[in-house]
Amino acid sequence: MSDFSNIHVLPSDLQNQIAAGEVVERPSSVIKELIENSLDAKATEVHIEIDGGGQNRILVQDNGHGLEPDDLPKALTRHATSKIARIEDLNQLSSFGFRGEALPSIASVSRLTMGSIVPNQTEGFQVSLEFGKIVDQGPVPLRQGTYVTVRDLFRNTPARLKFLKKTATESKRCLDIVYKMGLAHLDCAFTLISNEKNTVSFPKDQSLEERLQHMWPGQITDKLRPVSSSNKDFHLSGVIGSPETAQGRADRIFFYVNTRPVQDKLLLAALRQAYSGSLLSREYPQAVLLLDIPPREADINVHPAKAEIRFRNEKDIFSFVHQGVKATLSSYQSSLSPLPAHEHFQSGNTERQNPRHTFQTFENISQPYLKETRAKSYSTPDNPSPLSETKGDNLQKEKISIQSSSKISSDSQNNISGLIYLGQVSYCYLLLKDQRQDLLLLDQHAAHERILYHLFKTTGEDGSQQLLALPMELYLHPAEQNRLEQITTFLRRLGFSFDFDQKSLMSVKAIPSALTWQQAKDFLKAALAEQISSMDDLWTLMACRQAIKAGQSLARDEALNLIETWIKTPERDYCPHGRPVSIRMTTSDLEKMFKRQS
Ligand code: ADP
Ligand code: MG
Repeated sequence: MSDFSNIHVLPSDLQNQIAAGEVVERPSSVIKELIENSLDAKATEVHIEIDGGGQNRILVQDNGHGLEPDDLPKALTRHATSKIARIEDLNQLSSFGFRGEALPSIASVSRLTMGSIVPNQTEGFQVSLEFGKIVDQGPVPLRQGTYVTVRDLFRNTPARLKFLKKTATESKRCLDIVYKMGLAHLDCAFTLISNEKNTVSFPKDQSLEERLQHMWPGQITDKLRPVSSSNKDFHLSGVIGSPETAQGRADRIFFYVNTRPVQDKLLLAALRQAYSGSLLSREYPQAVLLLDIPPREADINVHPAKAEIRFRNEKDIFSFVHQGVKATLSSYQSSLSPLPAHEHFQSGNTERQNPRHTFQTFENISQPYLKETRAKSYSTPDNPSPLSETKGDNLQKEKISIQSSSKISSDSQNNISGLIYLGQVSYCYLLLKDQRQDLLLLDQHAAHERILYHLFKTTGEDGSQQLLALPMELYLHPAEQNRLEQITTFLRRLGFSFDFDQKSLMSVKAIPSALTWQQAKDFLKAALAEQISSMDDLWTLMACRQAIKAGQSLARDEALNLIETWIKTPERDYCPHGRPVSIRMTTSDLEKMFKRQS
């Protein structure tokens, strides 16, 4: 039986270490707290240095208003804050900090030195601690602001040390947090030096787009659109990415509430719902959204690292953000390539309201992509065609043959393998009747997607390669360079051969046989932008792009030909994204609907 009689208050160093477990999980959380303190002190320049992923040393130095010498030891050793005095102050809060626990927590698990000077003083004051105990203090020459050095983080708490990842991973997290804070504070300059290498330099008063250009590939930043909307209480600003550059991971979505970075399911849902119809279910857009609301509208005191918040008025916030994003999306919707109806924005889908103007024959429908591919491949001298007759060409020929075989099926009237074609409805669904008198509805886009996917997959994945007459050169953004290192083996296995001696230039000497020059280039770009990470993803993407769209009228021959090919295709009941291709209604289903069955 355990003995509870010996209840005692924990010594303050132990209290601080326990608090540290919640506030400081890793070097990047230390950096976050220290940057927040600098911003709270109205700094316009924050300089950060890390060694060994932040485990060996972190320095955060600012030009803010500083601390009085007397306040320094207080701020470092006990829950002390200058930011609130009463609990009601939380409703008015405009600072990041308020609990007064960050500095003592960090100090309790490291060797920390903090120096600071207030304006109009000639000398600063400095305090040094070792694992929570003051070991030294005294004057220090300093011109402006505050610096904090944190060495040997978690050296006295081996259990926490074990949770840290490789130095490179921790460094990346530190970089990410500086980026994240930098995006919401454009009026502050940020520099980060990691292992003596200059990794971030954001000058003061850059635009959001300028900062993002350092973080994301040009392919994405070129297509960003500003978001701006306001009502009486709320203001939303920032940028969002084009649906065309959507990616498989949600790692380029940043939300801020009153400039505080937050992870919030409600905001994510509002964002994704605004894109609904223009993204596939597993895709995420890019977004940096800054929401400004009266402090009383949000409770920020629900998470130790303040990464989560609770809105008082969830419904209002949701619809405000949703509308704001939607307004931006619809402003450039016209410049987007048409998407299948079920993947379309709900409003303003002119294509569907006026489908006739996009009338194309089946042959034409699948051709533009090929023509465009060809035109691009041969038009400029830096776009050489592959050396030999390639499998890519075969692939295209096969695709064309889907179309020419229509002659045969059109002769056999409306009957294909026991299915009678009845017609097209809503410029999207093909109506069929089978031998059992069941009614079959076929989604024309999904069916064509499945056909193309199968074709690409069966002809494209043998790892054989074709040499290029001239190397294909791709200039790489720093984020893409990192990504390339991660996926090098994967790309080589697919049949790509390339060098990247100079890190910013990728020189491709051979590409997989199954791809045309342009397809290979598109693939590499998408893979480097983390939009796709396997050949399967590529086939799915290509199939989706090249398949006939909803909203396109199909002539009878074209429809019959599509159906005929679809019947021969394996796994034909679902498209590569997993949506149903066909829906069957039996006589009994119909009878139920008409209430003929008792
Ligand atoms: P909190 O930010 O929640 O108040 P901290 O432990 O992070 O708690 O900081 C304690 C106090 O130390 C702050 O309230 C502030 O008065 C002071 N302080 C910390 N960092 C700085 C800084 N960079 N410049 C000026 N004052 C600072
Ligand atoms: Mg703080």
